[in-house]
Amino acid sequence: MARKQKVLVLFCGGTIVMEERPDGSLAVPDSKDSAIKILRDVEPRLSTIAEYDIEFIANIDSTNITPADWDRILHCLKKHYKNYDGFVITHGTDTMAYTAAALSIAIKGLGKPVVLTGSQIPGGRIESDAKRNLINAFKLATMDLSGVFIVFDERIILGSRATKASESRLDAFQTVNGEDAGEINIEINIKSWVPKRNTKPHHIQVRPGFEPDIFVYTLTPGCDPGDLEFLLNNKKIKGIIIRAYGTGNIPYGFERFFKKARAKKLPVVVASQCLHGKTLMHLYDVGRKVLELGAIEGREQSLENLAVKLMWGLRHEPHRIEEIIKETGY
Ligand code: ASP
Repeated sequence: MARKQKVLVLFCGGTIVMEERPDGSLAVPDSKDSAIKILRDVEPRLSTIAEYDIEFIANIDSTNITPADWDRILHCLKKHYKNYDGFVITHGTDTMAYTAAALSIAIKGLGKPVVLTGSQIPGGRIESDAKRNLINAFKLATMDLSGVFIVFDERIILGSRATKASESRLDAFQTVNGEDAGEINIEINIKSWVPKRNTKPHHIQVRPGFEPDIFVYTLTPGCDPGDLEFLLNNKKIKGIIIRAYGTGNIPYGFERFFKKARAKKLPVVVASQCLHGKTLMHLYDVGRKVLELGAIEGREQSLENLAVKLMWGLRHEPHRIEEIIKETGY
């Protein structure tokens, strides 16, 4: 008889285990044991899909997640990598896309599935989406594929391309500027470009550590370039992302900021404010000018992915930030 697959669940809290407080707000239970019990009770038959163990990472609303939690997830994955066929990370939805992007950049040589999921409605409620998401995440974690993914509602999304697109829809996540990695209907269908599982013995390289001091600035008409120049006096800030207009356009007047940032060797990444936007900074004079002054194009990547890559690059390869931002892949 075929061996039953083994899944490790990394527990990070989130709505999936939340309870209603007397004032009507949702929060994780005070005790970690009760939180884990809620997760187990979501679907007692999960072990028919795969044998599983749970490792505790954090019992938090994911709004409170920090790079230190990402490091804990990474250490845990490294420690247990060879003993499991796949990994499910239960996590709040608010920052799930950031965590998925962080794991995507910090793990090299991944040959198994790492699947993040959670729910929009607390797992203990009859109408909750937790059960379906958890079951599908388990199924994906046992399939013949590799990479970091978010499984939510009917979508399978690549970890480096995801964004939380709705605060209330059960279909909460979307792929930014690309197609989903797969679809969950009666069956699970995976796109042919998704890498297969590496069935040979192998190791992963894990490089934890993220620089938290970055600043994300959104342009609004009439905004004062002097504010950004002022920010350069704050020595704590190691990198800036500007959410520019359209194809990455920035009004005239920011040239001095870019020159000063370049002199300080402070990376400035430009993203598009458009809901489905990619930068194409050569297109207009207002983009080309700042590109010539050293702006780094974010191209088709999500803000979450750009932020996390900047944070990771600043810590590990500060002289290669531009290449790191440009490198895309699965
Ligand atoms: N605030 C919650 C969290 O991110 C939202 C959720 O899980 O859906 O932990």
